[in-house]
Amino acid sequence: MLSVRRQGGVVVEYMGQGVILDPSSTSVEYPVFVSHAHGDHSAAFRFPCTSSHATEETIRLVKALSGRCLQEPKRLTIGGKVRIGDVEVKTLNAGHILGSAQFEVDTPEGIVLYTGDFSLGDSYTMKPAEIVRCDLLIIETTFGSPVFSFPKREQLAIDMVKWATIEVVSKGHIPVFKTDSIGNAQEIITIFNRLTRLPVVTVKGVTKASDVYREYGFNLEYFDSDSDEGVELLESGKCVLIASKGSKLAGENLEIALASGWASIMRGKTSRQFPLSDHADFRGLLGFIKSCKPKKVLTMHGGALTRGFADYVKARLGIDAKPLTIRGETLFRHASMNESRMKACCDQVISTVRIPGFVYVKRWVLSEMAKKGFSYRETEDALSRLIERGIISVEGSEIKLNIEGLK
Ligand SMILES: [Zn+2]
Ligand SMILES: [Zn+2]
Repeated sequence: MLSVRRQGGVVVEYMGQGVILDPSSTSVEYPVFVSHAHGDHSAAFRFPCTSSHATEETIRLVKALSGRCLQEPKRLTIGGKVRIGDVEVKTLNAGHILGSAQFEVDTPEGIVLYTGDFSLGDSYTMKPAEIVRCDLLIIETTFGSPVFSFPKREQLAIDMVKWATIEVVSKGHIPVFKTDSIGNAQEIITIFNRLTRLPVVTVKGVTKASDVYREYGFNLEYFDSDSDEGVELLESGKCVLIASKGSKLAGENLEIALASGWASIMRGKTSRQFPLSDHADFRGLLGFIKSCKPKKVLTMHGGALTRGFADYVKARLGIDAKPLTIRGETLFRHASMNESRMKACCDQVISTVRIPGFVYVKRWVLSEMAKKGFSYRETEDALSRLIERGIISVEGSEIKLNIEGLK
């Protein structure tokens, strides 16, 4: 049966085969696919794993920014396919940052689309995410609340340029944009390169990411803040500075603005705020779901503000929706297993934890069972029955076969 769940990453499983998308730990021994270079998605490159995949641009960005990548991942290309048994993984544009991908996982039972972080266009550096007809849609909902409505990119660009040139540079101050080093930073460089003659200075992380964009043909002009030209420009005050969100900046003549999707709910609080986002906003998310026509929507990412997103999907689009959790989700409503399947599953559990008295870690048992084609939920049901009958005992995360129970 086709099933998806969260377990260290997003696990898509079909009859004991599967893939794990954007894992943050090595919880399942399936081939790994990394959607893009942002740290919360590319953690897999920081631990050893057997088989990993990413686009070349993603690998270059990760290496340029973190300086290391523990593996030599296999290269994916947008539009390309990788076959793993009965499962085929197709790589599609996500429109988020350079090299960002969505993954379409095709199985004999249906199509799963995992968006990763995605954006629906109206940008200076990226093309909008591709829309795919799918059965199960696993969607990133960072900005899945009606409070998030992002302005047209051209209007935002004009606002940013006006603030920098008319309000700040004219006073002899330097406008500073604090933003994501990968994605938004290159968008701001492009805006200032195209709309103004104001030179752009970048701090180290932004420079490194922008150098990779340049390698892939993006026509960006900027000076690193530590280079001779950069130092000179900062002294003259006639430039715009682009820094990562966390960078510590000192200087009386600096005027700081935040450029981020979050700015749309922080307007006017501290420094200047510009709602520049490389994610879909609320209306964008609903429109995307409608076009993909899924049978079920599983949401990920987001905080307190976006908790109600699945309910919006149900109410406005009439599509079954819920947050993706550790529990396995299938295309069908959970029908209890038929008796022969239950018996097969129980027998498989017993042969997996076959040494009486020996302690097995539950997570390992679940992954072994998955390799034999039993979903997480089926194994859980079988474990409950075996516990009831005294055949196994479970303490915390450990499973033990009882010798007495077997008699
Ligand atoms: Zn991202
Ligand atoms: Zn993310």
